[in-house]
Amino acid sequence: MSELAALGGTPIRSAPYPAWPHYDDSERDGLLRVLESRNWWSSQGVEVRAFEQEWAAFTGAPHAVAMTNGTHTLEAALLATGIGAGDEVIVPDWSFFATIGAVLAVNAVPVIVDVDPRTGTMDPALAEAAITGRTRAILVVHVCGSVADMDAITALAQRHGLRVIEDCAHAHGSTWHGVHAGLLGDAGSFSFQASKLMTAGEGGAVITRHDDVAALLASYVSCGRDPGTWYYRHFRLGENWRMTEWQGAVLRCQLARFPQQQANRAAHADLLNAELARIPGVTPQGRLPGCDSQGNYCYVVMVDPDEFGASRDHVRTALLAEGIPLTTSYPPLHALELFSDPAGLAPRIKDRSALPDYARQSFPVTERLAATSLWFTTSVLNGTDEDALDVVRAMEKVHRLRGQLAEVDAVAY
Ligand SMILES: *Cc1c(COP(=O)(O)O)cnc(C)c1O
Repeated sequence: MSELAALGGTPIRSAPYPAWPHYDDSERDGLLRVLESRNWWSSQGVEVRAFEQEWAAFTGAPHAVAMTNGTHTLEAALLATGIGAGDEVIVPDWSFFATIGAVLAVNAVPVIVDVDPRTGTMDPALAEAAITGRTRAILVVHVCGSVADMDAITALAQRHGLRVIEDCAHAHGSTWHGVHAGLLGDAGSFSFQASKLMTAGEGGAVITRHDDVAALLASYVSCGRDPGTWYYRHFRLGENWRMTEWQGAVLRCQLARFPQQQANRAAHADLLNAELARIPGVTPQGRLPGCDSQGNYCYVVMVDPDEFGASRDHVRTALLAEGIPLTTSYPPLHALELFSDPAGLAPRIKDRSALPDYARQSFPVTERLAATSLWFTTSVLNGTDEDALDVVRAMEKVHRLRGQLAEVDAVAY
């Protein structure tokens, strides 16, 4: 162990982590049940309706509406809360493309704000400072399940008469003072894409406390229809964002397995939070006191390039060689090519001046987090204690041998 695996030494770990996604005979039976029923379409089937009820029961939501994916759910959540053309929506800089793409897709104007350095979630003071006479909503993201400061955000939304939408794509199983993420604001959007904590390959759902928002969601996902009326009446400009019965059947199984998986992940995340914090230059992602349960989409730590004497990409490449699976941080939203490329918004947005000039704004915290964070895939939490502790062993080794990092051929994106 005197050499980093990236330089030919013996890796800390050669066994794979538990494969993702998990499945068993229940998914197989569910898919066959749909096949043989010939009801593959949710409008005539039972699986999606049952999944909606089961997801609502699990989260404690009065209403859940299943959809195609976690991008359409954001669009639907915005439309169903009355957000559209010309409305300013405040979004955090540290998120996946869909968070800002959905705002643009409904013709609204994304106003980007920087994030809290400990949690990586929207900084409520910066959100308040960004409010103008045209602001209509705040779209928060619970990054890797660490719930944003929802006390502050809902309070300021109330003061200014704004809607709050929660992007819960990372937050299955996350709670804030015991309330499931997605029920703190006006609508909560979940993704069931392949990397997420429950998956049917693609899929999404919105939960809400409000009857009127739920009725609009049900209409927007199905071509602007209203339940109980003739099929060819279209009351509003909706889309076809309906989930298929295949997805519904699989997600019912994924949900049944979720609580036990989540308890295992949470125990391992707590273990890693304690153990990794002992290594100089390593800081696990923070969690606010109100976040009493965290669904760990990925497990995130920040590394200090000064302490390691090398970039985050050197550390990441070294850890990968030690047998630890990692994915990569999103780049800051303000830095996406679609905003700097003159053709990036065409043909949807012809008047670029209708949007803020993000290139002239400054988001130092997100830039630092995007450049210094390591995103371990959730599989490192899905095994045994020893599996999780291999992350600590690999990080200790890379820290101890940090003098060798400069020689590692670092993969940067
Ligand atoms: C995955 C993800 C989405 C959207 O998910 P899709 O289901 O892939 O459309 C939205 N926001 C965040 C933060 C995500 O990670």
